[in-house]
Amino acid sequence: MRYFSTRGQAEPRDFGGVLLAGLAEDGGLFMPESWPERSAAEWRALRDLPYAELAAQVMHPFVGETISLDVLRGLCERAYAGFNHPARVPMVQLDSGLWVQELFHGPTLAFKDMALQLLGQLFEHVLTERNETVTIVGATSGDTGSAAIEACRDRSRIKIAILHPEGRTSEVQRRQMTTVDASNVFNIAVDGTFDDCQDMVKGLFADTAFRGDMKLTAVNSINWARIAAQIPYYVAAALAMGAPDREVAFAVPTGNFGNVLAAWAARRMGLPVSKLIIGSNRNDILTRFLAANDMTAKGVAPSLSPSMDIQVSSNFERLLFELVDRDPTVTAQLMQDFRKTGHMPVPDAAWKKATALFQGLALSDAETSAAIRQIHDTTGYLADPHSAIGIAAGQAAKLPAPAPVIAMATAHPAKFPDAVEAATGIRPSLPPHLAHLMTGEERLTRAPNDLASVESLIRAFVGRNDQL
Ligand SMILES: *Cc1c(COP(=O)(O)O)cnc(C)c1O
Repeated sequence: MRYFSTRGQAEPRDFGGVLLAGLAEDGGLFMPESWPERSAAEWRALRDLPYAELAAQVMHPFVGETISLDVLRGLCERAYAGFNHPARVPMVQLDSGLWVQELFHGPTLAFKDMALQLLGQLFEHVLTERNETVTIVGATSGDTGSAAIEACRDRSRIKIAILHPEGRTSEVQRRQMTTVDASNVFNIAVDGTFDDCQDMVKGLFADTAFRGDMKLTAVNSINWARIAAQIPYYVAAALAMGAPDREVAFAVPTGNFGNVLAAWAARRMGLPVSKLIIGSNRNDILTRFLAANDMTAKGVAPSLSPSMDIQVSSNFERLLFELVDRDPTVTAQLMQDFRKTGHMPVPDAAWKKATALFQGLALSDAETSAAIRQIHDTTGYLADPHSAIGIAAGQAAKLPAPAPVIAMATAHPAKFPDAVEAATGIRPSLPPHLAHLMTGEERLTRAPNDLASVESLIRAFVGRNDQL
């Protein structure tokens, strides 16, 4: 399988190249040249497979020549072996037509583990084949950093440096990063905000000498491999509900549009999905787009669902590319307009195509809290704020014909205990295997909000590690 940039000006690559590159040189996102479609009989043949086996089979057409099916099967098995539930992605029925698929049984209790645990395996495999090493850098306000660290810890060809804003992540989130005892992990607590950390990471990549010396790479959600690794659980859920002989609908709490894009891809591959329902918090650019073709960026406002506090959903560019019939010139122009003016004039025909498939619902913090309470009162299910938004959107959905709605639960309630307790009076506790979190020794290095200081810290860390 070859991959092209949504903006048409980058060298095409294979899966391995896309995995290591992340973003394309022209600022676009990589997309597969075609969608591997399956017939109804081929979908049926995937029923009842263990999750790792299903994941390998669904992903393999995207991975193509880079990794054989046998090797991919082994990587998937290792990626999901550490999950704390034998089904990996269990389904829970809430109501006659409503199910939840739990994506939070990985090591950091959020759905990012679904993709990043496999990405760690894929990186190690491809780097070994090529006899290369990399330094992964990233900025985090919470969930992504810990999921990336857990995925890369103790991998000999990877060093990982994660910047977080000192004192501005929750204690659970910080400890999930800083209590990891692995010599290839470097936590930097920056004296600044999350935006400062993100600007710093951009600065590290913009310094071409530093970038080359350190062999910098990123694992943020624009990496195609993350999307590919999220397609299998939609297949698993749909098959469990009777697909391909029955239509289903998915409800997805959405921030960067990565998770729901994977659902879109599963449908594009031939899975019978009647509707994609997206839930958002007060940062509602996507639901405004669906309601009135109003794609206008506003400032990010903090909410009860911080992992969805996003103003510009980077993976939307992939859907846009498809909506304009894969025209890279139109896509590049629209993205450029958006960057310049904060408003994207999506052509009417493209918007209509989007609204035929997608529905959206935005919830304020008060509505999110009410949703957590109502879900618990009526079904007994304890949902975190992100998952509650997805479930509420699923409950409000208008379907063209009766179909089971499957809402994606993206975080364990114990990750957001204050919001859950405020809504229900119940304080969810961490699963036993994470109890050590609150007592383990923390490892972090403080840094001023200054690019040169952070660069020299990372240089020293990478050098020190080489001598171990
Ligand atoms: C990242 C995240 C989301 C948003 O997912 P996207 O792929 O960015 O749309 C939702 N919920 C939780 C808990 C997350 O960590």
